[in-house]
Amino acid sequence: MAKKSEGAKLAEKLTFEFPNIAKASPKDMKDAEKFCKGYMAFLDEGKTERECTAAAERILKKAGYTVFDPQAQYQAGDRIYYINRGKNIILTTIGQKPLTEGVKFNIAHIDSPRLDLKPNPLYEQDELAYFKTHYYGGIRKYQWGVTPLSMHGVVMLKNGKKVEISIGEKEDDPKFVISDLLPHLSAKQNERPLKEGLRGEELNIIIGSLPYQDEEVKEPFKLMALKLLNDRYGITEQDFFRAEIEMVPAVKACDIGLDRSMIGAYGQDDRVCAYTALMAAIDVKKPKHTTVTVFTEKEEVGSPGNTGMEGRSLEHLMEDLCDCFGVKPRDVYRRSMCLSSDVNAAYDPTFADVYEKRNSCFLNHGPVLTKYTGARGKNGSNDASAEFMYEVIRCMEEENVFWQIGELGKVDEGGGGTIAVFMGDMDVDTVDLGVPVLAMHSPFEITAKLDVYYTYKAFKAFYK
Ligand code: MN
Ligand code: MN
Repeated sequence: MAKKSEGAKLAEKLTFEFPNIAKASPKDMKDAEKFCKGYMAFLDEGKTERECTAAAERILKKAGYTVFDPQAQYQAGDRIYYINRGKNIILTTIGQKPLTEGVKFNIAHIDSPRLDLKPNPLYEQDELAYFKTHYYGGIRKYQWGVTPLSMHGVVMLKNGKKVEISIGEKEDDPKFVISDLLPHLSAKQNERPLKEGLRGEELNIIIGSLPYQDEEVKEPFKLMALKLLNDRYGITEQDFFRAEIEMVPAVKACDIGLDRSMIGAYGQDDRVCAYTALMAAIDVKKPKHTTVTVFTEKEEVGSPGNTGMEGRSLEHLMEDLCDCFGVKPRDVYRRSMCLSSDVNAAYDPTFADVYEKRNSCFLNHGPVLTKYTGARGKNGSNDASAEFMYEVIRCMEEENVFWQIGELGKVDEGGGGTIAVFMGDMDVDTVDLGVPVLAMHSPFEITAKLDVYYTYKAFKAFYK
């Protein structure tokens, strides 16, 4: 081989490019494959924030975690968890160092864009029974027509009994669907702007087409649907007023590509970071700093309320934990570090013009470290400091973790936010780190297995 030129040597020394893991370390595919089996099962088990919390609790109990008791004495290595209103789970491993040296937070969200039932959802029209929906989070409405949907949620009966609903996930379960026009009759609809391809009030879900057999009944199709729900769950029409019911894609997680290198599934934003964070927390048994892993929700609507990160529930729990050790929360926060673990938009060659390629993340290049989010002039963003970027990058490099840097898209193309800003507000150094996703917020999102696996490795490196 010819000797390298001076310029080539200098370029090697001074310039940098993030490698494709599949090229740099193809042997990792086997471990990634194995890791992702558990992830895909987790996705299928938890299609809502409540189901996801329950799935995490089941895994944690198996790993020996116990419920947090504010009156108890804890010591290094103790593993505890806390559930907030059935929708958030917070797990902690007590570190070797005192809390006042800071804790390591890793926060992912387990809510995903979906169609919620309206409070008064059931109706019939022209001999079909329907549910009225109100979409939750940022969806492109036209993507939700003619795709099989399943029904999940809880209903509080008048007598105070809680009923859990799940229809459409089992092999022989019926599914539900929103209809769309045939091309032969869609000339007028085709003229609509894409964002109105299907309008909010057109996201009506077909749930039945058979009438209750009785000439005297005014709305026999609606009654038939109600009767079937009543047979299965004991619910009546007024029980919908005391319910939270979410309609989500009925599709199961599956391999994508001839090489099976990718995963297609609903709700990977952000359950991919939740699962990887959970596994990292479980696998780091003796962390130096106390680790606090949080599954939050309401992120897709701006994180408000008592189960979202803008709310106080994590602060209150941290106060309880600090009381156990007789320390002040503020002394803990100001020395703490947080990964806001959330997905970013993977570069999509088909729609290349919305991305700025030099600052985009790519499938198979590992988790993406996103210094800031926001829109336009970094509006509403948490912008991580150089010092904190140093810390997080150092953790990953020390453990030979592949990772990449990235922004969401072109500067004026759009924007988005994560929970990072709320942790920043709590006086905690925070940065976004997560998995690149194609077709984010669609009913069927795509990730690469190597990225999922290396996100887990990055989280482990951070917690070590
Ligand atoms: Mn997200
Ligand atoms: Mn999202």
